[in-house]
Amino acid sequence: MGSVQIVTTILAAAITAVAVWLAVRAVLKMVAVIRLGQPAPERFTDKITRARTMLVETAGHTRMLKWGVVGAAHWFVMVGFVVLSLLVLEAYFEVVTTDGGLPIIGHWTIFGLVTEIIGVLGLVGILVLMAIRLRNRPTRPGGRSRFTGSTMWQGYFVEWIVLLVLIFGFVIRGFKVATDHFEFPVWATPVSHAVGAVLPAWADGVSVAAAIKIIISMTWLIVISLNVTMGVAWHRFLAFPNIFFKREPARPAGSGLGALRPMTSQGKPLDFEEADPEKDQFGVAHVEQFTWKGLLDFSTCTECGRCQSQCPAWNTGKPLSPKLLVLSLRDHAYAKAPYLLAGGGKDLTGEEKATQAQLAHLDVLALAEADKPLIGTAEEGGVIDPDVLWSCTTCGACVEQCPVDIEHVDHIVDMRRYQVLIESSFPSEAGVMLRNLENKGNPWGAPQNTREDWTKGLDFEVPRVGEVDDFEYLFWVGCAGAFEDRAKKTTRAVATLLNEAGVSFAILGEGETCSGDPARRIGNEFVFQMLAQQNVETLNEAFEGREKAKRKIVATCPHCFNTLGNEYGQLGGEFEVVHHTQLLAHLVATGKLTPVQPVDGGVTYHDPCYLGRHNRVFAAPREVLGDAIEGDLTEMPRNSERSFCCGAGGARMWMEEKIGKRINVDRVEEAMATGARTVAVGCPFCSTMLNDGVNGKGAGEQVEVIDVASVLLRSVKPQGGKETTPVGG
Ligand code: SF4
Ligand code: SF4
Repeated sequence: MGSVQIVTTILAAAITAVAVWLAVRAVLKMVAVIRLGQPAPERFTDKITRARTMLVETAGHTRMLKWGVVGAAHWFVMVGFVVLSLLVLEAYFEVVTTDGGLPIIGHWTIFGLVTEIIGVLGLVGILVLMAIRLRNRPTRPGGRSRFTGSTMWQGYFVEWIVLLVLIFGFVIRGFKVATDHFEFPVWATPVSHAVGAVLPAWADGVSVAAAIKIIISMTWLIVISLNVTMGVAWHRFLAFPNIFFKREPARPAGSGLGALRPMTSQGKPLDFEEADPEKDQFGVAHVEQFTWKGLLDFSTCTECGRCQSQCPAWNTGKPLSPKLLVLSLRDHAYAKAPYLLAGGGKDLTGEEKATQAQLAHLDVLALAEADKPLIGTAEEGGVIDPDVLWSCTTCGACVEQCPVDIEHVDHIVDMRRYQVLIESSFPSEAGVMLRNLENKGNPWGAPQNTREDWTKGLDFEVPRVGEVDDFEYLFWVGCAGAFEDRAKKTTRAVATLLNEAGVSFAILGEGETCSGDPARRIGNEFVFQMLAQQNVETLNEAFEGREKAKRKIVATCPHCFNTLGNEYGQLGGEFEVVHHTQLLAHLVATGKLTPVQPVDGGVTYHDPCYLGRHNRVFAAPREVLGDAIEGDLTEMPRNSERSFCCGAGGARMWMEEKIGKRINVDRVEEAMATGARTVAVGCPFCSTMLNDGVNGKGAGEQVEVIDVASVLLRSVKPQGGKETTPVGG
């Protein structure tokens, strides 16, 4: 060992010791913060599926690859990070001696070849990612991007470190070539040989370059250890557990969606018959009331902004960005953590848990952070502004896009639950809807005895459950389908088509009440449970004696479809629920319905969030339209998984949209830009929102917004098949 090697070895050992010590401290701190969260026992089920999903999503980059070039570039950088960590390890041998290398595998030509290929692809990948970040920098001319609000220096820092580590990998090999210490052939390591050809035959070059590589790598470790909220770096480790513990690992991509999580306290679902707000947690009022998985979510955010780029609220000028919401919660959690770890926190009656002695030595900043209300305006020092909280349509675009499976919608609804149930604080206009739900069982406050009015004037009898002995499908009409004029046309169209196809079905009529979706999405779990329990009882009675496969329900409203199919199971209601477009597609495919006259004039289709993203029904409505229209369906640029919300979900249907551009107008402009004269929808709320948008643009004469069922009916029964308004309706 020469004098240079003594110096490089000491330098490498010293910086590594500091970095490892800081990293251990940082990991312990993160674990301590995450453990502050509430229990979530359901995250430990089905470990094999969890492990498989984690491997598929990470190794296969299933989310990221949907982003094309950036996904592929990130995959190479990820693989490069894992494989080339071995080369960082090898550098510890190279600082000691110029011909050092990894024992055993370090001498295999295959090792030389694989690391060479991954090194080159990693270099290309990181250069692509750097170019993409620069091209999308928020300060560029042209304004906001997905990186707006991200901590840009951290992204640049991580990318430069990766670039330099990769470059120094080739420099080390180049010095080995130049000094004749390199054992791999040219065919396996052409780049290393090319670098060696231009480097001098400096005997100590290998050890010096290896020391620089170690210093760069350890600088990265030191910086991220001193910045535990640096998700752009920490996600390399946290993404694995975050995906492993996702809430429904068996569901396909976008799988954080569908049902909302039940309201829990101490990890157990709340039963409102026994729940007591002084003993049980109602929603989330303080950051430590999220589950530990919530706190892991916040820690894992990479600040990539994919969620933000798809969010309808953000894209129409609202203050909500799912990324910024997650970052605010993360920063607040870590800033408040010293206070919580010292024993601080409020009990459910609002009393401080810690003694004065426990808090005596705390940093004033941690104490100040602890005083911040979780929901509050800037003047109140709130962590999340109420306008942010109430702007969410629960469309799920953020969850769908997040590469590390962060579950934004659950967190937003958990915060809404506390605001609604304990603080009674929510947009006042939604109060009418909630009162109507409690008193009349529907959001419009329509009299229950008018639920069957849509059947008036039909040229066939619509059977009621109880009047007929046997029926295959229970037709769940929904409140919109029963009371809202446009939706009533869809209801009539579906009933007519089912009758035409000879499907035996029956309705509940006045026995039906709201599914509870708007109450649940606004955060009123109490009203949701009240309505849902009533419906589950009614439905269980209607299907008495039938096994689950024969408890078939067809629903026209995707919100009912989602709630009945995905959420009623939480309350003992197990049913086979299909959306009407699925049933209609089946009836056409099996020849029970025959479109005879194609609808012309150009048709585009708007995917409802609760049908598409939340329940993966993308194909059925397109199949129906494909059979019913002239020519091909014209897709909007944002379709299927990336469809843009109409603005009505998350109970936003009953709130005023006062900030920014109206979401429905944005969507209607996109639909109209396709040149289609018909905008087909599969949801009564989308229908209302898009109709309002079209009419607001004065284009009601040129563009028609109608349900897929109505398009099919016109094609199946061109004479007299145009859906009609019920007599007296
Ligand atoms: S659910 Fe939709 S509206 Fe809500 S934050 Fe996510 S993308 Fe935005
Ligand atoms: S929440 Fe997910 S998609 Fe959004 S910035 Fe963070 S990692 Fe990216």
